[in-house]
Amino acid sequence: MGLARSEHSNPETPGEVATGTRVVRRDARASAQRVACDICVVGSGAAGMSAALEAARLGRRVVLVDSLPVLGGQAVNSIIGTFCGLFSNGNHGFQFTHGIADEILRDLGGMEKKLHYRHGPVTTVVYYDEIALGRWVEESVRKAGIVTILGAVMRGVQRCGRRATALELATRYGDVIVEATGFVDASGDAALAWLGGFACREPEGVPVFGTQMVALEGIVEAAHPTRAELAAKMQEKGDSYGLLRRNCVSFVIPGRNIAVLNMTHTQTPLEPLAASKATLEGKAQADLSVKFLMAEFPACFGKANVRGYGMPGIRQTRWIVGRHQLTLDEVRRGHRHHDAIGRTAWPVELHDTGAGYAWQTFPEEHAHYIPLGSLIPEDADNICAAGRCIDADLAALSSVRVMGPCMAMGAAAAHALDLAGSGSVRQIDVAALQKRLSDNLDRRDGGGKDRNTR
Ligand SMILES: Cc1cc2nc3c(=O)[nH]c(=O)nc-3n(C[C@H](O)[C@H](O)[C@H](O)COP(=O)(O)OP(=O)(O)OC[C@H]3O[C@@H](n4cnc5c(N)ncnc54)[C@H](O)[C@@H]3O)c2cc1C
Repeated sequence: MGLARSEHSNPETPGEVATGTRVVRRDARASAQRVACDICVVGSGAAGMSAALEAARLGRRVVLVDSLPVLGGQAVNSIIGTFCGLFSNGNHGFQFTHGIADEILRDLGGMEKKLHYRHGPVTTVVYYDEIALGRWVEESVRKAGIVTILGAVMRGVQRCGRRATALELATRYGDVIVEATGFVDASGDAALAWLGGFACREPEGVPVFGTQMVALEGIVEAAHPTRAELAAKMQEKGDSYGLLRRNCVSFVIPGRNIAVLNMTHTQTPLEPLAASKATLEGKAQADLSVKFLMAEFPACFGKANVRGYGMPGIRQTRWIVGRHQLTLDEVRRGHRHHDAIGRTAWPVELHDTGAGYAWQTFPEEHAHYIPLGSLIPEDADNICAAGRCIDADLAALSSVRVMGPCMAMGAAAAHALDLAGSGSVRQIDVAALQKRLSDNLDRRDGGGKDRNTR
């Protein structure tokens, strides 16, 4: 009997469908697929996406690798929801970082309710729709002709002396080897430097906590508690709900009846079984915080639903030993290094206790700088770190790992490797690099005045 067909089937051969199959067997001698490029970027978060797009615009052949099956790192997949560190302090500060930040602000800002500027109290932050950002990254990468290898976990790094030469990747579809002249380690955990046997740092003595973010829909915006009300209630009732954290944030995405909760503190170990366990514990902790909000603030959260859990939010785990370690003292003084490549004024935000975090803000005219030396592993010639795995002390890193400066570091890494070519990033002309990055070092405009400004 013929099979039913859709209207798209061939009317000449009704009922005929393909039934053929073939037997296949993996060739045990099959070798990994090889890809060659100029610059290979590992990690597609705020830092990696900036590095990859910048390198592609410089005419370089770029391969972008990520262990997730989607682009965007934590910016997209952990429901972070707010660009911080992008503007100088004060109510209407200027924009510190340009490059892809300009494109994101322009493109998402042109869409209905995808971007929202919040001016003050410390600085300007920009709320964004993470789904729109995800599609922005995917389309930008696709149009730039960047080769992406997704769901690809690094298993090894091949080296020749001070140079990395190739990455060994495992994907669900088979193994891939990427050969490149230069590499950007934007993995957040310094995975490339670690696997390559280069020196790395980890926090000592104190853990740096991560957070399981949750998005709630169906809230009543007008009834949303203030930060002080939330903190007071957590102090009073936190124990009875089994909550670890006391100092927490729920922020409203205006006009969409959505709140994003940053209310948990979870460990983010680098050991695989412990990391998986912590992921499940983080979600359980997030559920407790939802229960607390619904019961204690029913006017706002009483009818809310969980819209989504982010991927585990990871702050500071492992990072490179660079030519220079950025210090808290340099951050506080606003020291401008001879090889500065980016700036921010974001506070020190160190999540070093279960209950809360250290928070130190800076005056309105303050800027602190990130030197190229903190991006370059001391023992490598063709690797630049970017994002939350650059070299800094615990507190200094907490003030430069937000997304504004991550984008600046990504751009700097791309330009540094472009200038280095087949030579060493340690020997590039720093003045030439800074000339290329002058917008991110000296420009003082762009106050984020859009129709959603408040
Ligand atoms: C809960 C939380 C809230 C935050 N809130 C804010 C905020 O409101 N505003 C703000 O600006 N910043 C915020 N931050 C900080 C900021 O989100 C991150 O520091 C920043 O996004 C880091 O970007 P990145 O590109 O360095 O790394 P990530 O975004 O972490 O990207 C690293 C990428 O590398 C990939 N990767 C890792 N290991 C491997 C491997 N072995 N092989 C292949 N790929 C690998 C990962 O899959 C990932 O996609 C927050 C952080 C957390 C955790």
